[in-house]
Amino acid sequence: MRPTALNPLFASAQTISGVGPRVDLLLKKALRLPPGVTEPRVVDLTWHTPTGVIDRRATPTISTAIPGTIVTLEVRVLKHKPSPRGNNKAPYKVTTEDETGRLELIFFHAEHSFVERQLPVGEVRFVSGRIERYNDQMQMTHPDYIVAPDKRDDLPMLEPIYPLTAGLSGKVLQKACRQAADKVPEVVEWLDPAWLAARGWPDLKTATSRLHRPVDAGDVSAGSLIRQRLAYDELLAGQLALGLVRARQKGQRGRSVSGNGKLRAALAKALPWALTGAQTRSIAEISADMAASHRMLRLLQGDVGSGKTVVALMAMATAVEAGAQAALMAPTEVLARQHLETIAPLAEKAGLRLAVLTGREKGRARDLVLQHLANGDIDILIGTHALFSADVEFRDLALAVIDEQHRFGVHQRMALQAKGRDGGANVLVMTATPIPRTLLMTHYGDLDVSRLDEKPAGRKPVKTTAPPLERLHDVVEALKRAIATGAQIYWVCPLIESSDVSELAAAEERAAHLKQFFGDAVGLMHGAMAPAEKDKVMAEFSADRLKILVSTTVIEVGVNVPNASVMVIEHAERFGLAQLHQLRGRVGRGERQSYCMLLHKAPLGETASARLKMMCDTEDGFIIAEKDLELRGGGEVMGARQSGAPEFRVADVPNFVELLAAARDDATMILARDPELKSERGEALKTLLYLFECDEAVRLFRAA
Ligand code: ADP
Ligand code: MG
Repeated sequence: MRPTALNPLFASAQTISGVGPRVDLLLKKALRLPPGVTEPRVVDLTWHTPTGVIDRRATPTISTAIPGTIVTLEVRVLKHKPSPRGNNKAPYKVTTEDETGRLELIFFHAEHSFVERQLPVGEVRFVSGRIERYNDQMQMTHPDYIVAPDKRDDLPMLEPIYPLTAGLSGKVLQKACRQAADKVPEVVEWLDPAWLAARGWPDLKTATSRLHRPVDAGDVSAGSLIRQRLAYDELLAGQLALGLVRARQKGQRGRSVSGNGKLRAALAKALPWALTGAQTRSIAEISADMAASHRMLRLLQGDVGSGKTVVALMAMATAVEAGAQAALMAPTEVLARQHLETIAPLAEKAGLRLAVLTGREKGRARDLVLQHLANGDIDILIGTHALFSADVEFRDLALAVIDEQHRFGVHQRMALQAKGRDGGANVLVMTATPIPRTLLMTHYGDLDVSRLDEKPAGRKPVKTTAPPLERLHDVVEALKRAIATGAQIYWVCPLIESSDVSELAAAEERAAHLKQFFGDAVGLMHGAMAPAEKDKVMAEFSADRLKILVSTTVIEVGVNVPNASVMVIEHAERFGLAQLHQLRGRVGRGERQSYCMLLHKAPLGETASARLKMMCDTEDGFIIAEKDLELRGGGEVMGARQSGAPEFRVADVPNFVELLAAARDDATMILARDPELKSERGEALKTLLYLFECDEAVRLFRAA
């Protein structure tokens, strides 16, 4: 059971004063609720981290206030000058003063009664906001705060700024978050005292409270002791949970599946090429895992084109050699049929019996597949979600392969696994998302991993350079030479933040510029074009009638053009590593030597410079993902978002990687000493698990 002390945090956000049904709806949008949570709770406010603070601590006199800054002033109200009747444009002015001078408070479109109530003539008020000088007069337009002397404490001297949503006022959210912080209970410390002292971190209660009531301008910054403590708590909770789940998984008996190698040998003979070292290694890892007595749960990672399908096929053949069956599940109909096409010719040569089951198989055809599946006349079934149906029964499913894990949830994975005999089939999950090693544990902690970190032979590396924009002329000359040899070119235009219009303008301008040199060989494709138009341009490019395709990044170049061997990315410094890696992946697919030019505006900032250097140094998606993580720190990591992996609530800090490593070591040590979390610290750590809603792990205790 969840410790009762935490209950107030898991109550509805509406238990907080100032939060009613209307605000609740807005909170639903403004707060990042974890998956599965539909109604905002108090704890979601507790973790809603400010992005900055407004410092209202400057309390000068009117005459010493610096125009343009935020100040808090103590003033006496002298007189009101409402905007004249019928003239809404003129502001409502209120004149105030202190011993040193006068200050005009300016209100546009003000409700008169409101201003009158707030600023009674003759009374003293504290006003806080941006002060300006206008024609020798000091002014404050729409003060952020107007409070009477007895309400002085309501005026936050350091006001946290939160991510908002339209319609939700900052003040309402601030108040709600402050109260949410107050509901955090005093808990028994779960962190190691020596570690806590060495880091100088505050306790949980202090940390959450200062997050929402900062006492120092730096409190909410990602490097602050407060944020560090909370980040570490979240990471430690995650690592502990993964450790517990993993221990449980490993403890579960599966079945040992191993074969005589005959089918695999036949397949290898049927392949028109030799397996890469990485493929051979991965196949060996998988078969060892399948042969072991625990249930396999393994991730096969490899960039697009790295050759995952044949690895999966070898694993499935192993299951068949053992007298059992295998299934391969793809996220879409198209992908399922693509797998079928790749696998069918090989399977035929090796004597494997294949069938396909998607939403398209209906009626008798479907019945027939199900029948053959149940009596063992089918060795390998390829399909989509349709495989989950309750009436799909295998005679003996020993291996389930799932392609592109991120499109399926854990529950689906488990449903398929459950179709196996004796407590479940072995599972192999395949993904093309390069996930840094450091993140694997957080996102796929319950999976063992095999990596295809080597490209099939014969693919030439892409030569990557990073010329500054001043060398545009040289780039154009290089393109002339490339075109003379028959090459085709992609030219990607700069990424311009949140403005489709200027993105289009930039692409049009670049196309016009290139036409001066290359004439009609230049085509343009952008997001505003109709799909039919795009298809037409793409077809022209595929047919080699266009030599250069200028495009904005909003377009997905879906067609594979092996003859395109040059990728120019303009303003490459504006792209993230993940995007650059993806864009470059569009060349280097054919026989030709390929090139990638990262045109950029010099001088480069430190991060941009590191990114471009990385791109020039390697093509390895894993290394790039690792560097991406390092450069961004936590946050949105390459592919992590698509992978459907849990996002962090408070662990979004620059030294994420370092903290994660520490949390991992910490969790390993804790679980080695106290696997059931029964010690005093263990009990405290259970509270931590509940606080961060690591339900899976918590459930294990309940079951025990
Ligand atoms: P992935 O699913 O990892 O993106 P595929 O399994 O579809 O990659 O393989 C991509 C292409 O590479 C296929 O055409 C496949 O036949 C080919 N291929 C796979 N392994 C090798 C290899 N060892 N040598 C040469 N070509 C290979
Ligand atoms: Mg594939």
